[in-house]
Amino acid sequence: MPASDNFPGIDLPSLAGEAWLSSQATQRVMAAIEAGGYQVRAVGGVVRNGLMGLPITDIDIATTAMPQEVIRLARAENLGVAETGLQYGTVTVIAEHHPFEVTTLRRDVESHGRHATIAFTDDWAVDARRRDFTMNALYCDRAGRVHDPLGGYADLLARRVRFIGEAADRIREDYLRILRFFRFTAQYARDEPDTVGLVACTRLREGLAQLSKERIHQEMTRLLTARRAVEAIDAMQGHGILAAVLPAAPRPTVFSRLTGIEAAFTRKPDAMLRLAALGVATSEDASRLARAFKVSREERGVLDLAVRDSARLTSPPSAKSARALLYSLGPDSYRRSLALSLACALERPISDPAWGEVLTLPEGWTAPKLPVNGADVMARGVPAGRAVGEALHRVEAWWIAQDFGPGRDELLAKLAGA
Ligand code: ATP
Ligand code: MG
Repeated sequence: MPASDNFPGIDLPSLAGEAWLSSQATQRVMAAIEAGGYQVRAVGGVVRNGLMGLPITDIDIATTAMPQEVIRLARAENLGVAETGLQYGTVTVIAEHHPFEVTTLRRDVESHGRHATIAFTDDWAVDARRRDFTMNALYCDRAGRVHDPLGGYADLLARRVRFIGEAADRIREDYLRILRFFRFTAQYARDEPDTVGLVACTRLREGLAQLSKERIHQEMTRLLTARRAVEAIDAMQGHGILAAVLPAAPRPTVFSRLTGIEAAFTRKPDAMLRLAALGVATSEDASRLARAFKVSREERGVLDLAVRDSARLTSPPSAKSARALLYSLGPDSYRRSLALSLACALERPISDPAWGEVLTLPEGWTAPKLPVNGADVMARGVPAGRAVGEALHRVEAWWIAQDFGPGRDELLAKLAGA
């Protein structure tokens, strides 16, 4: 590869030997396209994270081959093909069950949000310039050589998330880039957001209203769970950007405490729980957020938890009531509810040992199953119908009040007596 293809002034490391690059699947896909005489390079997150030594998710690939050529060459090597985004030059090639998004080098002639009128090119620098941030415009060929047409590596070393070209123009092309700016800053930056980017995002924030709910949902989920989400949310709030995407009065302190509680009690970052901490103070908030982010039923359930009594405890429950709560909520909702309770109990330190004890209860105690059932109730003369459920419910309530102590015989006796 010619050296001129790189931004001058800095030595680029090699990614040769990285597991994702030397894997059979990646090598097969890249080799298949190279076999047609084309250039092919990994791009985006995989190169950026590879260079930072961070875990990678999916592998995106850029190539000089036209989409129909990618399809032909992949099929010739018995690789799977899905014509996912053909109108944008993207073909999904599947090797060893791993999908690779292969996109022909392109320039966006006219961008209108997610949709763009595109033109293919064979110039890597042109392809780089349509991308959002300099650290996302790094490429890596099959031998592990890194290609950096726009100086992204220097920004990566400085952990600086910087727009490619004029920030304001790039944002007007696609307002999602405002959220991506904060998301990538939250994931990778060490310091304050880049000033130029921040000013442009602040000035153009009204454009966020044009985004589809699905895109907001997807990007905010990543933002809320990023390493420095707390700082990003503070910056967004401080610049009027949070208000443009969050139809609720934000609670940055509750949000920050929740992230601390998750870290202390080894829970993975939980996007919906974080959203609930940030924005759900009333049931109307839960509805508004559910609508604005077009959440799934399951996600809606998490938002709704925030307004239940179990998420508003001001002091830690006794060991006995904690067990009763765990029995009725199940471990996931139990953990979430108590984490929200503590996050909202602002006068309590998040390292409070009494709260720690109840928060970790599911790790040491599993709720037993009620040792009697409907058949037992009917065997004691209760006719089938609502009465069965009611009798079962009464005996269950008694059993919980006894801290799950009574066994089957005692419960049967209780049923007989009831
Ligand atoms: P990760 O997958 O780890 O979240 P990524 O950088 O791979 O990060 P993707 O959303 O998968 O992010 O996008 C792949 C690449 O496509 C990006 O690195 C960037 O170069 C480009 N890209 C994606 N979305 C946009 C956008 N809205 N505007 C400009 N470029 C984009
Ligand atoms: Mg990616």
